Amino acid sequence: MDTDEIPETHPRYESLITRHRIEDGVEKGITSRQGLIAQGRGEAFDYLIGEQTIPSADEAAKVAAAYLLLADNPVLSVNGNVAALVPGEIGELADATGAAIEINLFNRTEERIERIADHLEEHGVTGVKGLKADERIPGLDHERAKVDSDGIFTADVVLVPLEDGDRAEALAEMGKTELVIDLNPRSRSAESATVPIVDNIIRAVPNITAHAQELDGRTPAELREYCEQFDAEAARTAAEKQIRSGDLD
Ligand code: ATP
Repeated sequence: MDTDEIPETHPRYESLITRHRIEDGVEKGITSRQGLIAQGRGEAFDYLIGEQTIPSADEAAKVAAAYLLLADNPVLSVNGNVAALVPGEIGELADATGAAIEINLFNRTEERIERIADHLEEHGVTGVKGLKADERIPGLDHERAKVDSDGIFTADVVLVPLEDGDRAEALAEMGKTELVIDLNPRSRSAESATVPIVDNIIRAVPNITAHAQELDGRTPAELREYCEQFDAEAARTAAEKQIRSGDLD
């Protein structure tokens, strides 16, 4: 079935659309085969969460928007799954917050980087970083450490959706404010996040954009106060509780 043949009323509409986008991503050489496995893991958590944005994730999305608006040098990190799932939406988030976009791959090849850059461009996203790769994140092996000197390397706030645990921990070690989108509240990425957003990226990215648009115009003091009251561990615990004991209706 093609994506446009799936009726929006289908009870598993979102999940089917997601699978199609990831499959297309693999076919186009954007998403790695390992990315398929990561998606499967994510889907299981999403099923248990009820395929909905729970209140603690909505609150985290709003705080993430506040951090992005306050940042001097915010960067949105894009991997093969992110590019396949939310290419246009990540561009809208960049527009709403003034953040740069950097392609950052676990299994980095120049060919895949270029395909992702082209795919993003087809969705109206231009000027992406990640092609220079002239700096290294300390503490990681060579290929996985590569970042742009004027991108993630010097960013103060980084949005890392679906990031692998090692790199999320290494970025946190560098003292960056990490905003993590991950459906597993106990993954190492979510655990090392300043703001863990336990939600499907398909819902989370547009939600952060909507919050950024709504918060635009608040004073830095108001935004800062908003960030300071956030309790990351409470957000992880609320999500874990929903997964372990939520209603599957
Ligand atoms: P850890 O951080 O514990 O080391 P990992 O590096 O093994 O975990 P991966 O297998 O690389 O994690 O998977 C990436 C993470 O992304 C998983 O925790 C998975 O739940 C999450 N994930 C996958 N798809 C989505 C999605 N569509 N939206 C949000 N999160 C997702």
